[in-house]
Amino acid sequence: MTDHFDVIIAGSGAGGGTLAHTLAPSGKRILLLERGDFLPRETENWDPGAVFVDGRYVSEDTWYDADGKPFQPQSHYFVGGATKMYGAALYRLRPEDFGEMKHADGVSPAWPLSYDEFEPWYTKAEWLYQVRGVHGEDPTEGHWSRQYPWPPVSHESRVQQIFDALTAGGYHPFHAPCGILLDEARRPASACIRCAWCDGYPCLVHAKSDAEAIAVRPLLDRPNVTLLVNAEVERLQTDPGGGAVTGVVVSRDGKREIYEADVVAVCAGAANTARILLRSDSDRHPNGLANGSDQVGRNYMCHNSKAIVALGAEDNDTVFQKTLGLNDFYLPGSGRQWPLGNIQMLGKSNAMAMKGEEPKLTKLAPRWSMAEVARHAVDFWLTTEDVPEPGNRVTVDADGSIHLAYRQTNDEEADGLYHELRKILNHVGLAEHHVLHKNFYASMDIPVAAVAHQAGTCRFGTDPATSVLDVNCKAHELDNLYIVDTSFFPSIGAVNPALTAMANAIRVGEHLAVRLTS
Ligand SMILES: Cc1cc2nc3c(=O)[nH]c(=O)nc-3n(C[C@H](O)[C@H](O)[C@H](O)COP(=O)(O)OP(=O)(O)OC[C@H]3O[C@@H](n4cnc5c(N)ncnc54)[C@H](O)[C@@H]3O)c2cc1C
Repeated sequence: MTDHFDVIIAGSGAGGGTLAHTLAPSGKRILLLERGDFLPRETENWDPGAVFVDGRYVSEDTWYDADGKPFQPQSHYFVGGATKMYGAALYRLRPEDFGEMKHADGVSPAWPLSYDEFEPWYTKAEWLYQVRGVHGEDPTEGHWSRQYPWPPVSHESRVQQIFDALTAGGYHPFHAPCGILLDEARRPASACIRCAWCDGYPCLVHAKSDAEAIAVRPLLDRPNVTLLVNAEVERLQTDPGGGAVTGVVVSRDGKREIYEADVVAVCAGAANTARILLRSDSDRHPNGLANGSDQVGRNYMCHNSKAIVALGAEDNDTVFQKTLGLNDFYLPGSGRQWPLGNIQMLGKSNAMAMKGEEPKLTKLAPRWSMAEVARHAVDFWLTTEDVPEPGNRVTVDADGSIHLAYRQTNDEEADGLYHELRKILNHVGLAEHHVLHKNFYASMDIPVAAVAHQAGTCRFGTDPATSVLDVNCKAHELDNLYIVDTSFFPSIGAVNPALTAMANAIRVGEHLAVRLTS
C-alpha cells in the first residue's frame, strides 16, 4: 500500500505531537504514525502497584548494554509518548545552557541558537501546554516575553514550611512550573482533582498537560490529519541519489506498508530516532541515513539524577508535592567550581512505590512501618547535567535491536548537589534521609535502563562534520528529512527536557508551514 501526504510525522510525543499540532492549521495533509496505541483509561492508571511494581505501561522492548547484556528500558510507547507518564515539570533551560559550559567531566557545547533567539517558542509552548508558574521568582531564569498563562499551583502546608525556611535561610526557592489542567480559583470547573499522580503515572482524568491531551486529541476530527496507531516506522527509503526521503516503511498490525510525503519528520525519541536512521542504510548512506558525519546515535545524554527521600518527625500530608524548585546551585560561583544542577520536589512517595527500597528505609527508621515511612517522607529530585560523550551512543544490531553504551558523567557535580541538599535538609528539620536509585520512577535497578530523559543522538549545529541537523532541524544530508524530538539537543542542561522539545517542535513546525506554502 502506498499513499502520499504533505508531511509524515513518526512519533506522537512531546516533539511529534506538538509538531502535528503546529502544522495542522496549515491544512496540509499530515500523517501521524505512532508505534503504540492510546493508553487505556483504567483504574490501574493510578495504582502504584500496577505502575511501579508491575511496570504495566513500560514497553516490552529488550535493549542491550555496552557488554551485550539485555535490559528492559523504561520506554513508553503510546499516543503522547513519554509525556503520558511524565511529571509535567515544564522548565526552560537557563540562558547559560545555550552557551558553552565547562563541567567536571567535560564541556557542554554551545547551541547554534542563543536563549534569546529561542525564547519566543518557550513562551508559545508554555501557553499551549497551559503551564502554571510565575516568571520572575527564580533568579537564574532568562528573560521571558510573557507571563505563564496560569498562576502557580499553591504550596500545601508542609511544602510552604520548607519554602519559608529556605527563604529565611537566604535561599531562593520558586514555584515550580507545572503542566496540570487545574483552576484553583474555580475548582469545580477544572479536570484536575489534584491527586499525587502526575509523576510517573498516566492521568486517568486527562488533566495532565501531556502531548496526547494537549496536542494530538484536538486534531482527531480534522480532515487533514490522519493518525495511525500501532504503526511502527521501520526504515526510510530515499531516491537513487540519496538526497531525499521517498518512502516511510511501516509495520502495522503485522503488515508492511509504505507511505510517501514531501517532508518526513522523525520524532520517535532519542534512541528510537537513531535506530530508524541507522536501520535506513543504503548504498548512498552506508552508515545509516544522514550519518556521513558518524554522529547519528552518539552523544546520548540522560541527566545524572538522584531521588532523595527525607524523613521528618512530623507527618507530611502533602498530596501534590511538586510545587517547589531551587536553582541556587545551578551555575558555578560562590565558591563552587562547577555548575551543580537543579533541586525540585518529586511526586509524593507512597509505601507501594517504595517497596523495592524497603530494607534500606526500614534500617533508616526501624520503628516505622513502610506506611509510616511514606507518611513522613518528603521527596526531592536532584538533576545534574550529563555532558555529551561520543562513546555514549546508540547502535543497532543486525536484528534491529538497540544497543546503548552509556557511562554517566559528572558524578562529582551530582555529589556536590547532594551535599548542598544535605545542608538544606538539616536546615529544614529533615536530617534523616536516604538516596533512592535514579530509576525510582519504575523501580528498576539497572541505571542504563533509566532512559526517561534521553536526548542528543542527532544534535543540531552549523557544521555538518560535527552535527546531524542544521539549525532548522533538517538533516544536513537530505532535503526533506527533519528530526523533531529530544535527539536534537547538543547539551541537556540540568532541568527536565520536555518543554524544550515542545518549544522546538513549534519552532520547526512554523518553519515547515512556511516551507510547504512557498
Ligand atoms: C516517568 C517519566 C517522568 C518524566 N518527567 C518529566 C517531567 O516532569 N518534565 C519533563 O520535562 N520531562 C519529563 N520526562 C521526560 C519527557 O517525557 C521526555 O523528555 C519527552 O517526552 C521526550 O519527547 P520526545 O518527543 O523526544 O519523545 P517521546 O515523547 O517519548 O515521543 C516519542 C514517540 O515516538 C513513538 N515511537 C518510537 N519509536 C517509533 C517508531 N519506530 N515508529 C513510530 N513511532 C515511534 C513512541 O511511542 C512515542 O510516542 C519524564 C519521562 C518519564 C518516562
